[in-house]
Amino acid sequence: MSLTERLLRIKDSLPQHVTLVAVSKTKPVEDLMVAYRAGQRVFGENKAQEMTAKWSEMPKDIQWHMIGHLQSNKVKYIAPYVALIHGVDRPELLDEIEKQAKKNHRVIDCLLQVHIAQESTKFGWDPEELALWATAKQLDAYSHVRIKGLMGMATFTSDEPQIIQEFTSLKFVYDQLSKVHSHWDTLSMGMSQDYASAISCGSTMVRIGSSIFGDRNY
Ligand SMILES: *Cc1c(COP(=O)(O)O)cnc(C)c1O
Repeated sequence: MSLTERLLRIKDSLPQHVTLVAVSKTKPVEDLMVAYRAGQRVFGENKAQEMTAKWSEMPKDIQWHMIGHLQSNKVKYIAPYVALIHGVDRPELLDEIEKQAKKNHRVIDCLLQVHIAQESTKFGWDPEELALWATAKQLDAYSHVRIKGLMGMATFTSDEPQIIQEFTSLKFVYDQLSKVHSHWDTLSMGMSQDYASAISCGSTMVRIGSSIFGDRNY
């Protein structure tokens, strides 16, 4: 199957309310342009420099999503154009995004990353800590950052019940916090291996890379 066929097949399989982020990290601009010509406009990258290089080369109607772990000193590179930052996992990062968004006269949309996996390597807030921190008051302090919801990654495992349990726990936290933050509309969960489970658990945004672009060679 060609890249275009893989992309369109996945796109057609998604419910209408689920946004597809085509995760293009490590892939050359030619591959992204194939997806672009097939109608894809939302791309996800995990490195600020790589994303910025692709942004400068590619058509300007693309929405660029930062999906990786973001160092504070890299925010300035993406602040002029980034559409959504998925992996906000600490208050200091939000402070820096606020500062750089203000400099650029922008309001930057963000998702708070929640740690739901069993692996200790995945970043994100502990659900309980997040619940304490994300009171309406704390988040209202930012005028150039708009939190749109949550993001999470399940454990890398073939144990489907475990994946379902982790996504369900994220959906629960999302529903709880949405009662306070009634404008939230985005729950980013699901990748190539587990997006069907994620959608069944309430995902509104899936981040799919290898199933579209093929395996990555690092
Ligand atoms: C790489 C990556 C993805 C996409 O992974 P695939 O398995 O290639 O679909 C999704 N989310 C994040 C945070 C990633 O880093």
